[in-house]
Amino acid sequence: MAPAHTPASSSARTAHGRRCVRCSPRPSPCTAEPVSSRSPSPQDAQDAQDGQEAQDAQGSQDGRASLASIGSGTLMAVAPGKGIIAHRYADGQVRGYVALNKPEAWVRSIDFGDRSAGLHHVAAEFDGWSPSLTAFVTRSQAEPWLRPIHALPVGLRWGRVPGVTLLGDAAHLMSPFAGEGANLAMYDGADLAGALAEQPDVESALSAYEERLFPRGGGAADRSARNMRLFFGPEAPRSVAALFDPS
Ligand SMILES: Cc1cc2nc3c(=O)[nH]c(=O)nc-3n(C[C@H](O)[C@H](O)[C@H](O)COP(=O)(O)OP(=O)(O)OC[C@H]3O[C@@H](n4cnc5c(N)ncnc54)[C@H](O)[C@@H]3O)c2cc1C
Repeated sequence: MAPAHTPASSSARTAHGRRCVRCSPRPSPCTAEPVSSRSPSPQDAQDAQDGQEAQDAQGSQDGRASLASIGSGTLMAVAPGKGIIAHRYADGQVRGYVALNKPEAWVRSIDFGDRSAGLHHVAAEFDGWSPSLTAFVTRSQAEPWLRPIHALPVGLRWGRVPGVTLLGDAAHLMSPFAGEGANLAMYDGADLAGALAEQPDVESALSAYEERLFPRGGGAADRSARNMRLFFGPEAPRSVAALFDPS
């Protein structure tokens, strides 16, 4: 899924200190939990307001810390099966992804009708992570977009079918972790156009194009599958750090 981020609200912990995905992000008791039987006094109201202000201040601090941690580039916090990834764009905007190795049905079952509660549900998957990282999720001001990751088998080929070929994702759908899918789609289009212009007939052009397409797509699909294992496999995050410092 891919929520864009500019921090806005705070913690998923409830007043009783337990996590409950059905609770609002504000520190109110969950309906499934016991609540105080004592009537609230004016002091309670003041304490609640002080607590809320303290939490808001902490939330803002977490938000600022999370934005500062990106600097002018990319932040990747990964672990086996999950990650928080954020990029700063040239115009200063921050956009990011939460990556979770979960069945699509689990993600689709989250009710983003209450966006804040939905985002806190997602952030609960990162329990124990630094608040400056989970703030990317809980304080996002953008609508979350779900992006299930699908991939064709690495090295997929097909026999020549007269008059027909494939390009882009249709030919070599892969996870986005090589950052090549859009580049390849454009390259494929240019390559196919070149072949059609150069070759004497359509069949020769499609054959020549596919001879180059298969190794090009296969190489990127292999890198992408490998990167996905490095980012979210059992050795993460050390496997990612090793990419930058192989010594
Ligand atoms: C989360 C994520 C991050 C990514 N990051 C990167 C990145 O950093 N760098 C990169 O290079 N790539 C990235 N990609 C991959 C990239 O988005 C795709 O590889 C690229 O969009 C593929 O282009 P395409 O034209 O082949 O397919 P698409 O972009 O899927 O275009 C196909 C179009 O065909 C339309 N269509 C489908 N069926 C029909 C029909 N029957 N009739 C008419 N129209 C139809 C669809 O609506 C769609 O508009 C990322 C992908 C994801 C999911």
